[in-house]
This record gives sequence, structure tokens and C-alpha cells, in this order.
Amino acid sequence: MNTLEREFIAEVLADKSNASMLYRAKINWEEKRDHYKAMVREFATLVSHSDTKVARLIAKSFFEKYKKWLAMAEGHISRLTWQRKVCLGRAKQVDIDVSEVKQVPIGQFMGSPGQSYGNRVKYKCPLHREKTPSFVWYKDQNSWWCYGGCGGGDNIDLYMKLNNVSFKEAIEKLSTTIC
Ligand SMILES: [Zn+2]
Repeated sequence: MNTLEREFIAEVLADKSNASMLYRAKINWEEKRDHYKAMVREFATLVSHSDTKVARLIAKSFFEKYKKWLAMAEGHISRLTWQRKVCLGRAKQVDIDVSEVKQVPIGQFMGSPGQSYGNRVKYKCPLHREKTPSFVWYKDQNSWWCYGGCGGGDNIDLYMKLNNVSFKEAIEKLSTTIC
């Protein structure tokens, strides 16, 4: 988050009437999220059902793209949900730079070193039982995706799921791991 964004958010959060604006923004992202989710599903099917290698590769690149957008939309939705709560006085504002928290490597939450493939690291998914690793950590974006059906997101989303905590609790806890 840069200074302008911080100022904007501080201003929005100081005014309760902005809760509806945050709510509308959240709904917009939810619509996008649903669209991205549908596209991810569609391209996943195309990846496994295309006849030619070229078609599979094209489908795969679209699949990866929508997957990233889906993770981004989910990040925005959890942020806006939390900001709206702060706005309505239902949550305390946490004076932490969320973008800093997002740098905490996902690898830190995993019990094992995983298998590295360039910028990707494969693990057995910590969110469901499995024998073959289908959980991928994308190191360059510090995002994750479980190809076994658990979905994906950023490190905050994963921390929330792993520890069954709220967005606010997750950033509070994660911020303590930043030196
Ligand atoms: Zn999983």
C-alpha cells in the first residue's frame, strides 16, 4: 500500500457513511470473483480435455491467468469486508501495513520443505488429506493454489484457513513474524 492509498483508506474508515461504498466495492469484487471462478473451472476442463498439445497449452495459460485473478479478487473481498467492519465500528483498525504482511512467505506455514520447480514449490495440501502433493506455492506472487479443490489465495487467506482465524487476527499474528 502506498501513502495515497493509506490516506484514502484512513479517510474512508473515519466516515461511517462510507460503509455502503465499501459494501458496493465488495459486491463488485464478488461478481468478478464468481466470474473468475467459473473461468478457472472452464479452462481446467479444457486443459484435461483438449485434443492437441497447443490447445492444452493455451487453455493452461488462461487457466493460470484466471487463477491469479481469482486469488486477487478473494484478497480484495477479505480486505473490503474487514475495512467495512472497521468503518461500522465492529472491528478495531489495525495499524499495520497489509502489503508488508503479504511478504511473509507461504513456505513458513508449511511443515516440510516441499519440492521446488523453479518458482513453484509443491506440497501435500495442509487443507485436505492427500497422498500426492497438489498444493502449489507460487513464490514470485507468494500465492497458493490447491489442485485438489481447496481453492487458493494469498498468505493471509491460507493463514486464516489453517488457523481458523479472521482477517484481522491473521494480519495481527502475521505482522509479529515480520522483523
Ligand atoms: Zn487441498
